Amino acid sequence: MLQRLKDNFHLSMITLVGVIASCTLLPYALYRLATGSYLVGIVDLLMIAVSTVSVWMAWRTGDTEKPGFLMAAVFCFGAVLVCMKLGQDVLFWIYPLMVFIFFLVAPIKALLLLLLMVSAIVSLHFADHSRIFNNGFQLLAFITTTFITSIFAYIFAYRTHLQRKELRHLATTDPLTGAATRHSLTDELTAAIDLYQQKNSVSGLMLLDLDHFKRVNDNFGHQSGDQILSQLVPLLKQMIRQQDSVFRYGGEEFVLLIKEIQLADLHRLAEKIRHAVWHQLSLPDGSALTTSIGIATVQQATDWESWLQQADVALYQAKHQGRNQVVIATGPEADKSNSS
Ligand code: GH3
Ligand code: MG
Ligand code: MG
Repeated sequence: MLQRLKDNFHLSMITLVGVIASCTLLPYALYRLATGSYLVGIVDLLMIAVSTVSVWMAWRTGDTEKPGFLMAAVFCFGAVLVCMKLGQDVLFWIYPLMVFIFFLVAPIKALLLLLLMVSAIVSLHFADHSRIFNNGFQLLAFITTTFITSIFAYIFAYRTHLQRKELRHLATTDPLTGAATRHSLTDELTAAIDLYQQKNSVSGLMLLDLDHFKRVNDNFGHQSGDQILSQLVPLLKQMIRQQDSVFRYGGEEFVLLIKEIQLADLHRLAEKIRHAVWHQLSLPDGSALTTSIGIATVQQATDWESWLQQADVALYQAKHQGRNQVVIATGPEADKSNSS
């Protein structure tokens, strides 16, 4: 549980806002109900209920976007209703609420929700039956201060959003080749296994290792080796679909995760890739570069480690049999007999 809070910033923020909102609103709700302000009491209880349900939904489904938006929208709506009923007494609560909203939804959505909320409060003031502000100065001060708070909170939230995106990109993308790093590989493999177990959707895995790459570095220099690696990944990406992924598994070893594919088609695709590397990439002296590939479908795996191990055994066999070839994994039973 603590690990999930640590790993998922948005989930931890929704939980924090939910807990703080519920704890601070509950005494007010009880007080309002006890003193006969039923509308305000019910709105407070509604906000507590929505916070609790949203936090529960976020934890249960892992989706934080919809619960976050639900909470933010209900908080803004509740604030307008409470302002209408209690007037100035609740205006100070608008400011922490504005900050909360930026933790719940994307910056631009938060800004738009707050604009709507402030416009609704100001409109209510002008409606005959509920004058919220004492005079024009107070109204102007409210509009100015909420505007300044919203804009600065927006800038801060937007900058943080960009920095988090950049950090995620740095952690998940290999700078030399542009392939995904191993960081996200286990999650993607686990998701593909879940998809197979729940919907019977078969994914395939290719483990690809360039042949005699040490010699490339030795004969042409490390920089030439780097250049070949950076040409390889765009070539691989050209040959797979948008939903498939390429990961840099190690030095000149790559994993391709191919979604919704049967073994025969996976084999055909691996052969196409092997040919493309052989005929479309070349060393600085014009000679060919080859690759060995081990392939395994998800049916052959019990977890991501065994799936990768299947492909690894097949790759080892491809190297052992002379390189520049594709070998299909034969399943865990074959592994045991190979290793014994
Ligand atoms: P094999 O056919 O058995 O795979 O032979 P190999 O020479 O490719 O052997 P191995 O896979 O063990 O060696 C990988 C070599 O790849 C070792 C290292 O010099 C080189 N290498 C690993 N990462 C990089 C890199 O980022 N840039 C360059 N230029 N070379 C790399
Ligand atoms: Mg190699
Ligand atoms: Mg290698």
